[in-house]
Formats: sequence, structure tokens, C-alpha cells
Amino acid sequence: MSAKHPGAQELVFLGTGGADCTPRVGCLCEICAEARQKKGRYARNGPSVFFTGADLLFDTPEDVAHSLEREEIHYVSNLVYSHWHPDHTMGRRVLEQLNLNLRKRTKTTTNVWLPSWVRDDFRKKLGLEDHFQFFEKMEIVKIHELAEGEAVKLGDATVKAFRMTQPGLASYLVQHGGKRVVLALDEIKDWNPGGELLAPDVLVLETGWFEHDKQGEQIIPTGHWIRRSEASFEETLDLIQKINPRLAIATHIEELNGRSYADYLELEKKYKKYRLRFAYDGLRVSI
Ligand SMILES: [Zn+2]
Ligand SMILES: [Zn+2]
Repeated sequence: MSAKHPGAQELVFLGTGGADCTPRVGCLCEICAEARQKKGRYARNGPSVFFTGADLLFDTPEDVAHSLEREEIHYVSNLVYSHWHPDHTMGRRVLEQLNLNLRKRTKTTTNVWLPSWVRDDFRKKLGLEDHFQFFEKMEIVKIHELAEGEAVKLGDATVKAFRMTQPGLASYLVQHGGKRVVLALDEIKDWNPGGELLAPDVLVLETGWFEHDKQGEQIIPTGHWIRRSEASFEETLDLIQKINPRLAIATHIEELNGRSYADYLELEKKYKKYRLRFAYDGLRVSI
């Protein structure tokens, strides 16, 4: 069994950092220092989530193997990708560790479900297509291509992928026992979700960038490209209002924000009317 609580459908936050984890290696800021000292909810691994009942992993950041170990997840039947970006794909060699056991002479297989437009990028970026074909030759991976809105049954869950406004991005709808979970794990800028994705039980989405740090200093310089191409926290709040979930969970939380676990708890109070929680590594939500 793959989960701490076999049989139940739980959404597990394996890592809740963004392109940079917390602590960020080389950074001596107070947020990173606190994370090094306290660890636990103050530290954030690379962005990925896991559904226990469906044995379904979303994305493979560099440190995903450590996140899976921490959560005692020892088998991954299904893997989907939100997009090709390195912070979501560079830990893909976890598939060898999960599926190859030379000493026992055994192999297992992970089904990799790629929306067609995500696979288009895999063919062009970071050698991803080559690498996954290499895994297929090793018989540890089976690649499946998904059309937009096509329903796939994974265990007791049904999964569909949808395009987002940013090219190459996929959002997902996971349905289980009458519950609906919508995941938009990154790049939500200008996203206009279709009707099927509105009013879910749970919405998981990226946090976005903050204008000011806790001292009131501007974080991202005026004119920086991030301001134009990445969603701000205000845009994330607008999307939550538009999608109107019963519960919103913000993840992909950048070290750059200069905020700790305790600071996000305060923000949850401030934005209570949004029914918003900030994820932390190891957070589990029953579906
Ligand atoms: Zn990312
Ligand atoms: Zn830092």
C-alpha cells in the first residue's frame, strides 16, 4: 500500500515551494534561517501533490524522492504533469528509484499521462521526450497521451486535463465519490477556467507573487518580467472569487515572498472570507 492511511482518498502536499525551495541553498535570510532551524512546516520542497486512493502523483520536482520518502509513499501507479518547466520535471529520475529493483530482479511500471499540448513541449524542451522514451525502453514507464477534457479512470478517481491561458499549461479536474478537486499548480496568469471547473470542493492553485515584504519593501523590481508574465497574489485572490470553491489551497510558495509558515497563518486570518488556506509540506486533505 502506498499511503499512511490505505483506502482513503487523501490529497497530500508533498512539496509546497516554487521554483526555489525553502530554505534556499546559499540564502542566509531570516526565513531560510528559520526554516533550517525549525524544519517541518517552515521548510518547503519543490512543488508536487499526490492522491492516495488513485495512486496519482502530480509533477516531479528535483527533491520529489525525499518528499515521497517523508510521506511514506513507496509506489506511484500514475503520474501527470502540469507543464514542462524544470521545477516541475527535473526530478523525473525518481521513476527509476520507484520502479527498478535490481537486487530482487523486479520492475514495476508507472503510467505517465501527458495532455497532448504538454507532450508537444516535452518533445522540444529539456530532452524530456527522449528521457521518457528511455524509461519506456527500460519498461518502468508507459506513456499515455490525453486529449483535452478526456476522462481517465485512475483507481476510484476520474481525471481530466484542460488547457490554460499560458501555453503548455494543464489544469486538472479530479473527481472522486461525488467530490471535485481542481488543480492549477502554476502559471495561472490570465486563466479563464471553463464551467466544468467552477465551484469545486477544493481548488489548489499557485500563490503568486507579493508586492511587498513584511517590512513594506517592494519585492520584485519595477519593470521586471515577472510582473508581466506571472500572477500576483491579488490575481490569485480574484481567481478564487471567480471559481468559488468550498476550500482554496494556495501552494507553489516562493522563498522570494519573504514569509514564513507563521506569516501565512496570519494571512489566512486576514483573507478568511476567501476560504483560503496556505499549503505546507505534509498537509493532507481528505477528499
Ligand atoms: Zn513552477
Ligand atoms: Zn532566504
